[in-house]
Amino acid sequence: MDTMTAVKKEPKKKSEFLNPDDYRKDFPILNEIVHGKPLIYFDNGASTQKPLQVINAISDYYLHSNANVHRGIHALSEKATAAFEDSRKKIANFINASTEKQIIFTRGTSESINLVASAWGRKFVTADDEIILSEMEHHSNLVPWQILAQEVGAKLKFIPFKDDGTIDFPVFEQLISGRTKLVAITHMSNVFGTINPIKKIIRISHDRGVPVLLDAAQSVPHLPVDVEFLDCDFLAFSGHKMIGPTGIGVLYGKTQRLQNMNPYQGGGEMISSVWLENSTWNEIPHKFEAGTPNIAGAIGLGAAIDYLNDIGMTNIALYEQELTTYALEKMSSIKNLKIYGEAPERGGIISFNIGDIHPHDLSHFLDQQGIAVRAGHHCAQPIMRKLNIAATTRISFYFYNTKQEIDTFIDELENAINFFNY
Ligand code: PLP
Repeated sequence: MDTMTAVKKEPKKKSEFLNPDDYRKDFPILNEIVHGKPLIYFDNGASTQKPLQVINAISDYYLHSNANVHRGIHALSEKATAAFEDSRKKIANFINASTEKQIIFTRGTSESINLVASAWGRKFVTADDEIILSEMEHHSNLVPWQILAQEVGAKLKFIPFKDDGTIDFPVFEQLISGRTKLVAITHMSNVFGTINPIKKIIRISHDRGVPVLLDAAQSVPHLPVDVEFLDCDFLAFSGHKMIGPTGIGVLYGKTQRLQNMNPYQGGGEMISSVWLENSTWNEIPHKFEAGTPNIAGAIGLGAAIDYLNDIGMTNIALYEQELTTYALEKMSSIKNLKIYGEAPERGGIISFNIGDIHPHDLSHFLDQQGIAVRAGHHCAQPIMRKLNIAATTRISFYFYNTKQEIDTFIDELENAINFFNY
């Protein structure tokens, strides 16, 4: 027997792209002990952990510059306004928007999409117009369009997904027509991890004069995203999925589109002049930001972006690719483990089932070992229905995860199989 082939080759543990230990020290929560075991946090697709730099930026704001923005002529208000607007600039640079006026603060991806469905959709979409979505959308990029379509009598069309979790591109080319008013699609699937061919989708849509909205909740935190290069019309993402705070998110929109839209909500800040019977609107982005915004959240998101920029988004993307390849290889040797989604271009999200072990039972077992995973329909019930399953277990990585954590996870999957006697 050839001894060389008998030696099992272990993939290298160290990455050339980044060393997670350089960053884990900034995330105190990663040292938590859960059910007597060191925490392994594999639920980053749902929400990520926050480094001290973000936590400190938020507490610094409350400790040293807490005041309302834009309105006060006093030192604290000016300081708060400068920090708030500085975050907007950081976000614009981060996604390569041409001006910070294209950056609207929202509560998150869901609110950003609802904003477009309401303020753009109600003005421009009429009866018998069509909106193209895909079958792999998160409920946040599905339900707002259902509400709009029901209200104005428009029709929703769906690009199907194939067995490997990629979209059926030729069907998209057939669906788009003179009746299409908008294409709204996820950049990266939160179930399959698939990175959709959005550049191609945008080019084809624009050739027909159709704008494109990208649900970038799973892409902006994990990949370099350049709105000028992609040429998307709208882009939505959430702060809490990119080491930022909850309750803050972003809508990017092309200037002309934002200027032509109706306001989203009425109130302070979004107006230019108000009379008893009517009002005129403020300039973008303020036209879409009624009321006192989430100032601390915006400042925290700015600190998150500084942190991500220091690591480099390309390094993050390549490192997560390495973790995902490592995990997929190890998982492929587990008997009866089925992975949903085999796209060649994918991010660090893996959905799976093992035989008929219920995902809730499996995730409970893993939780007892300190491993946080997600089980359920992942806010994508139409995907589950098409796959004829109730739920999956999902692991999702970020730059602070390690190959050692994946090794422990794999060991515990084996233990779960023994435990459930499968
Ligand atoms: N879109 C996708 C693809 C997501 O994964 C999520 C969250 O899981 C959302 C939208 C909604 O994000 P949020 O709950 O932050 O609004």
